[in-house]
This record gives sequence, C-alpha cells and structure tokens, in this order.
Amino acid sequence: MSSTGLDAAALEQFRQLLLEMKRAAADAVDARLHGHGEHRHDEAGLPLHKEETDDDAAAETQRQADVAHLARTATALHEIESALARIDEGEYGLCIDCEEPIDPRRLQAHPAALRCARCQGVFETLRSRAGARG
Ligand SMILES: [Zn+2]
Repeated sequence: MSSTGLDAAALEQFRQLLLEMKRAAADAVDARLHGHGEHRHDEAGLPLHKEETDDDAAAETQRQADVAHLARTATALHEIESALARIDEGEYGLCIDCEEPIDPRRLQAHPAALRCARCQGVFETLRSRAGARG
C-alpha cells in the first residue's frame, strides 16, 4: 500500500545501490584529499622536484580539476544522503516538486533522483537561466 509504487524489496534494492554509491563517492573524496590514490603507501618519501614551472601550471590545473571534482562529488553525496533519508521517511520515489511517483526506470538510472523527469527539466532550465545570463 505504498503511494510510491515501490515495494519493500525494491526500496531495499535502491537502499543498497545508494549505500554503494555513497561508499564510492566517499572513497573518491578520500583519494583526492589524501594524495592521488595509487601510491599512498610511501607517504614518507615525498618527491623533490626543483624546476617545475610547467608542472606548477599543470599542478594548478589539476588542483582546480580536483576542486571541481570534489564539489561534484560532495553534491552527489548530498543527494545520496537525501535519497537514503527519504527511504527511511517513506518518501523515496516521490518527486519533491510535484509529489507524483518518479518513473522507476528513471530511479534505476539515477537512484538519487529527487524529481520526476518533467520537474527535473523545469529545474535545470530555471537553474541554467539563473546561472548563465544572456
Ligand atoms: Zn515532478
């Protein structure tokens, strides 16, 4: 008797998916914050480079990419947390704008989706209009 059209088994499946996404996102943040992943075993041996003007620029570009990636991951984490909270509250699968059930196929593609396709479209149009004028 759920208004979302999702039964307990489906909800549990989405919960597992979201928990997995959350772990992956947290790992990604961790890797970014603690150096670049692969070689975190030799933290003591810091590489000593002297003349790296080009590398500085590259490092700066890399740093900006890292920051952008972190921001995206943080947003994704936030959405995943909201979706998990909504499962607990029994509101998962309902659009936060029009409160209609979200298409299950959409949820499968985007387990953290908060809006139905229609409202998401409206939301993104409004956001891009507010962001990029002219
Ligand atoms: Zn909607």
